[in-house]
Amino acid sequence: MITRREMLQTAAAGAALAAVPTLFATAKAQAKTKVFTLPKLPYAYDALEPSIDAETMKIHHDIHHQGYVNNLNKALAGMPDWLSKPVGEVITHLKELPEKVRIAVRNNGGGHYNHSFFWQVMTRPGGPGPKGDLLKAIESSFGGLDGFKKAFTTAATGRFGSGWAWLIPGKDKPLAIVSSPNQDNPLMAGGPRPILGVDVWEHAYYLKYHAARGKYVEAWYNVVNWDHVAANFARKR
Ligand code: MN
Repeated sequence: MITRREMLQTAAAGAALAAVPTLFATAKAQAKTKVFTLPKLPYAYDALEPSIDAETMKIHHDIHHQGYVNNLNKALAGMPDWLSKPVGEVITHLKELPEKVRIAVRNNGGGHYNHSFFWQVMTRPGGPGPKGDLLKAIESSFGGLDGFKKAFTTAATGRFGSGWAWLIPGKDKPLAIVSSPNQDNPLMAGGPRPILGVDVWEHAYYLKYHAARGKYVEAWYNVVNWDHVAANFARKR
């Protein structure tokens, strides 16, 4: 025979069990609502000195890049399917987005993708230059490293206003150079993933170089992470 006390216990256990699926459902919903987050810099703020000063790196990463991440999350709020995609996928499917958020996602998704990429292609000054297959590709595309730098600097300094210069896989030659305005990049236009890129927004260099973008780009070559660039070149695209 079941006592009243046992019955109450059973009822309590039943209530607790009934609550379990609700808790799971809530946890699942929370786990699903992924948002974009700011990646950590792969080095200290001052690691790129003297080419890029620590204050510029801190502002660029902690404020500018964080801003793109925040605004991307804001633009895609309530759209968990989009929030759960890798940012590279988001920016290659802009046309599928509702028109009212498309420009915000283009600018801020582009900003998030481009900066996440940019931190990776830099490292402490004094690293090794390009070698192996990458060096061969640079030689056959631009006549050598100096020829590459000349063409890349022309693209970077010739970009009117804010934007980026990119090294991408070429069509008739192994490598090609393009530039894009704002936070656009070659991927958005249905092109290949970039191999190397330089940010030529004033926020990337103004504190140290003021309006001398060419001097910034010249100094920036000293912090290119050529091993990472070689890995980008070697991947399937
Ligand atoms: Mn930037």
